[in-house]
Amino acid sequence: MMDRINPAAQAAQKELILIKVGELALKGLNRRTFEDVLMKNLRRRLAPLGRFEVRAAQSTITVTPLDADADLHKAAQRVAQVFGIAAFSRAGMCEKDLEDIQRTAAEYLAPQLEQVSSFKVEAKRSDKSFPLKSPAICEQVGGYLLDRFPHLHVDVHQPELTVMVEVRDFGAYVHGQALRGAGGIPVGTGGKAAVLISGGIDSPVAAWMMAKRGLELHAVHFASPPYTSERAEDKVHRLLRQVAAYSGRIALHTVPFTHIQEEIRNRCPEELFTILMRRMMMRLAQRVAGQTGCSALITGESLGQVASQTVQAVACTDAVCTMPVLRPLIGMDKEEIIAIARKINTFDISIEPYEDCCTVFTPRHPRTRPVLKFVELAEQALDIPALEEEALAGVRSLRLSYEEG
Ligand code: ATP
Ligand code: MG
Repeated sequence: MMDRINPAAQAAQKELILIKVGELALKGLNRRTFEDVLMKNLRRRLAPLGRFEVRAAQSTITVTPLDADADLHKAAQRVAQVFGIAAFSRAGMCEKDLEDIQRTAAEYLAPQLEQVSSFKVEAKRSDKSFPLKSPAICEQVGGYLLDRFPHLHVDVHQPELTVMVEVRDFGAYVHGQALRGAGGIPVGTGGKAAVLISGGIDSPVAAWMMAKRGLELHAVHFASPPYTSERAEDKVHRLLRQVAAYSGRIALHTVPFTHIQEEIRNRCPEELFTILMRRMMMRLAQRVAGQTGCSALITGESLGQVASQTVQAVACTDAVCTMPVLRPLIGMDKEEIIAIARKINTFDISIEPYEDCCTVFTPRHPRTRPVLKFVELAEQALDIPALEEEALAGVRSLRLSYEEG
C-alpha cells in the first residue's frame, strides 16, 4: 500500500486528473491509435512536471501522480492545452466503498461546497459489481453532505454545484464541475505540415488551428539580415515556444532571404515585388517541407487583408505549389484572429515592433490583381534554381519547446 508516514506523498496519491477524450470517441475504427497518440502526447507534456501514470480505461484517461513532487496543479494546466481532450477534472480518489466515497466527497469538495448554497449529486457506475445503483449512490452521498454542510439544500434543476461520483474499474472518484479541454484531435494523428511563420499576429494562430486538427508542426521562417534583426528572429522563437504549449515541440527552419529580396528589387517591377517574394517563399517552404516529411503548407493569410491576399494573388502564389496550402484564417476577420491570439498568449509577443522581411522593400503600389502570365514573365529576370539552392544551403534548424514562465 501507499506510504502512510509521509502525509505529502499520501496527499499526492489521493488526487488525480480524469480526462474525457474528444472527437476521438466518434472515430470508431481509429479510436485506439488516437487514444495511444493522445496518451503519448500527454506523457511527453507532463514529463517535466514529475512522475505521472497515464492510462486509459472506459473512454476516460486518468493522470495519477506517482510521487509527492509531481505537481498536479501544473499538470492540470498542461492537460488543458493538449488537443484531443473534450473535458477534464481534478478528482479525489477513494475506495469503492460508500463510506469512503461520502467522506472523500465532503473533504475533497469542502472548499467548493462552502461557497455555494445548492447542489446535487450525479453518479456514474461503470463497475456494475458495485452494490449500489446510481440513484442510491446519489441519495446516500447527498444525504451525507446535507448533514455535514447544514447551509446546503438540494436543487436538482439548477444546482450551483454538481457533485460527480464515478465508480470505475480501478477505483471511485469524486469531483465538481469538469473543465473544458482544448478540443480538437491529438497532434500527430494527421501527419506533418510546415507553417510559414512570420513575427505577425496571424501565422501563430494559423499554426495553432492546424495543430488542433491533428497536424504535427514544422515551421519555416524567412529572415533578411541585416534588414531584419536578431531580435525579430528571437521573437519568432518565443512565438513558436508559446504555440508549442499546445502543439508540442516544433522544429524551426530559418531560411536566409536577403539575396532573393535584393534580386527581386533590382530586377523586377516594383508593383510585383510582393507577389514575387511570396512565390519564392512558397517554393522554398515546399522544399523544406519535403525534406522534413511534411505533406502540406500552412499560412496565416486572410482574404482581402492586404494586397497579397486577394483571390488573384492567392492564385499566383498557389501556381508554384504542388503541396496543398492550408489557410485556416482565410475567412476570418482580424478581430476573430486577435481573440484567438490573446487566448493562446501569442498576441503580446506578435505586437512587439520588429521588422519582418515582408516590410522590407514594400512597394508603394502593389498590384492587387496580379495576372499569372505577367508575373511569370517578370520572374524570368531571376535565376530561380540558383537562388533556391543558395537559400537552402543556408537553412538553420532548431527545435523549440514550451518553456514555463
Ligand atoms: P502575419 O500576421 O502572419 O505576418 P500578415 O497578415 O502580416 O500575416 P503577410 O505579411 O502578407 O500577412 O504574410 C502572409 C503569410 O505569409 C503569413 O501569415 C505567413 O504565413 C507568411 N509569411 C509572411 N512573412 C513571412 C516570413 N518572414 N517568414 C515565413 N512566413 C512568412
Ligand atoms: Mg506579416
